[in-house]
Amino acid sequence: MSAQKPHVIIVAGAGPAGLAAAGSLAEAGHEVIILNRDIKFGGLAEYGIFPSKLKLRGGLKKQYWELLERPNVHYFGNVSIGNGKDLTVDEVRELGASAVVFAIGAQGTKAIGVEGDSAKGVFHAKDVVYHYCRLPGFGDRPFDMGKHVAVIGAGDVMVDIAHWLTRYKKVDRVTAIVRRGPAERKYNPKEIRAVCANMDLDGIKAEFARIKDRLIAVGQNPDEIYKGLVDEFTKCEPKVSETKMGFRFLASPKRILVDGNNRVRALEMEDNKLETKGEDTAAVGLRQYYEFPCDSVVFAVGDKVDETVGLPYKGGVFVTNPNKTGNDPDDALFQAYDEATGRVVEGVFLAGWARKASEGLVGVAKRDGDWCAEVVSRYLAGKPAGAEPKVVLDKLLATLKQKKSRPVTVKELRILEEAEKVHKGTTDAIGEFKYVTNQEMIALIERQKV
Ligand SMILES: Cc1cc2nc3c(=O)[nH]c(=O)nc-3n(C[C@H](O)[C@H](O)[C@H](O)COP(=O)(O)OP(=O)(O)OC[C@H]3O[C@@H](n4cnc5c(N)ncnc54)[C@H](O)[C@@H]3O)c2cc1C
Repeated sequence: MSAQKPHVIIVAGAGPAGLAAAGSLAEAGHEVIILNRDIKFGGLAEYGIFPSKLKLRGGLKKQYWELLERPNVHYFGNVSIGNGKDLTVDEVRELGASAVVFAIGAQGTKAIGVEGDSAKGVFHAKDVVYHYCRLPGFGDRPFDMGKHVAVIGAGDVMVDIAHWLTRYKKVDRVTAIVRRGPAERKYNPKEIRAVCANMDLDGIKAEFARIKDRLIAVGQNPDEIYKGLVDEFTKCEPKVSETKMGFRFLASPKRILVDGNNRVRALEMEDNKLETKGEDTAAVGLRQYYEFPCDSVVFAVGDKVDETVGLPYKGGVFVTNPNKTGNDPDDALFQAYDEATGRVVEGVFLAGWARKASEGLVGVAKRDGDWCAEVVSRYLAGKPAGAEPKVVLDKLLATLKQKKSRPVTVKELRILEEAEKVHKGTTDAIGEFKYVTNQEMIALIERQKV
């Protein structure tokens, strides 16, 4: 990054993307202020990645602590941005920083849009994940998962949910509901190891027999695909429950059917066939419907951004600059853009899942944050340095005080971390203790400080 006069830059969101952007900008000598909705940093690295992935989560945490303890990085957790929140987008922009990066992830939920989707026993995957990772607002609410859970989706999040249901909830049955066929499964074969000891092999064989003609019709070889699928069931983690895990392929849920208590009793499913479209295959409904019994449904079909934040929004994403002009044509991909005025939102940038919802793993989000930092640096090059860090920080703290918000600093997070290490209480999926409400965390910090 080229040498330039330091600026004050605000990064909203302390997930992998925001922290990567903050790291690169701090490395370049800028003063970085991080505002994060959650008290703790990490985003989905703390509240999404499966708790038992200790090595990955531990490595990231270490790296993030090092960054946040740098003198030119100022962290404030428990600060939510949005209309009616601690700060509005305009209030953040008016603090006097030279640029603001929004790396607030994809916090909206895609509308399920099928009849019965408000029944008891219908869940969004993100909420379930937040629950078992014990995010405040989710960790302390009961999630009654029933006995037979249909998880809609064929990706890694489906596998994570199945992992929790199989190894920790020990439900009777988990069925992954897949719109297309087994060859189009999206999960990483390594991830399936968490649940493959529980695979219902007879059930999977029967499922292949049920759909084989539809695979052959598009030139696929069912026997080869079956072998490929079950060959991945190696190095399975030891079996700890009698849960049976299976798949329902070429199936699209059309309605959620409920009992007299408005609890899920089945999915009305439409059978699909496959059609090839160039390299890809598409699912096409056959208008043949049947009931698939289950008592819970989890939609693991990806997320969208939170349209209530107050950034220009359209069709599930925050709008970015469609005009590829400027220092580098790709810079436009990171610039927030207001279609009403036909202009970029001056000094406002997007990174990570806030830019491309549900796309990629931590490495991808990190790269996106780094790339965004380069775009911001190019934007700032040659611009006068702007307000002094102290001026921006004072204004931030005064605004938060006026709003009766309670920002949490890195020093306070250390207090919390130490207290959680020694506490014995209700734990997350792998047995780690986490305070599960913001009130408890803040009360603990206040007690320890006096
Ligand atoms: C269930 C699940 C499992 C996953 N498992 C893995 C895995 O095993 N390995 C892997 O590499 N990747 C995994 N990923 C992907 C990885 O978590 C993401 O790629 C990455 O976290 C995206 O980073 P981000 O910073 O864009 O968003 P996030 O991680 O979502 O971070 C967003 C941050 O913004 C803050 N925020 C939100 N709204 C606001 C607001 N209004 N104001 C202020 N702050 C706000 C949040 O507090 C959060 O800290 C998983 C994802 C999911 C959903």
